[in-house]
Amino acid sequence: MPDELLRIDDLHVHYGAVQALKGVSLHVQAGEVVTIIGGNGAGKSTLMRCISGLEPAKAGRVLFQGQDLAAIPGHRRVALGIAQSPEGRQVFADQTVRDNLVLGAYHRKASAAEIEADIQAQFERFPRLGERQQQMAGTMSGGEQQMLAIARALMARPQLLLLDEPSLGLAPLIVQEIFDTIRSLRTLGVTILLVEQMANQALAVADRGYVLETGRITLQGAGRELRRDPKVRAAYLGGH
Ligand code: ATP
Repeated sequence: MPDELLRIDDLHVHYGAVQALKGVSLHVQAGEVVTIIGGNGAGKSTLMRCISGLEPAKAGRVLFQGQDLAAIPGHRRVALGIAQSPEGRQVFADQTVRDNLVLGAYHRKASAAEIEADIQAQFERFPRLGERQQQMAGTMSGGEQQMLAIARALMARPQLLLLDEPSLGLAPLIVQEIFDTIRSLRTLGVTILLVEQMANQALAVADRGYVLETGRITLQGAGRELRRDPKVRAAYLGGH
């Protein structure tokens, strides 16, 4: 399947005696926004860390454009086209906003002019980052840091953008801004794998979704279908 960007096949991850992932399989087609929803400790971050190469798999495979990533370390996965905006943002706190963006393009073979054009594109997308480009990233608000984390990941010009709980700890208005950003990236054709606890918003923006419960995929389907599913409503949408 030429359009298949990511395939995860029967993935198992253990932390000592804790089985964080117990045979997860999923796929992401080019141009899709796919979300993984699940509660605390379901294994969402572990799954993301396996894709970006921060966590080794005990068994199973992660394929990117048909290539098995097992032997490919994290830093080389960025060069292949996988960029992650990690949970908790993790911007370079003692670097400026602008320098964080420059670092996001670290793996690209691009001219200074191309990099600058992409920085300006991020400033258009996130005007607040443009206004604060010389501010130390660590002194930005939580919402601003989240935007910076997404912008930095986009600076890699990724084929697959991994977003790990971008709404975490943010005020409702900022959460709305983040989901609006995801919506506009989707319109531009950016392929996104989005991990979220905010199931309602995540399913509304996603083409497809998977429900992860204690290390297993228990449900999957179109975002809208899952949003209507009684089990999803009861467990993740507060019965609304
Ligand atoms: P949350 O939404 O709360 O961040 P999550 O779905 O991202 O949760 P993970 O962080 O992937 O869940 O954790 C899955 C399970 O693995 C949990 O039971 C967690 O305690 C355990 N776990 C995660 N990291 C480690 C670690 N480094 N050592 C031991 N256990 C771990």
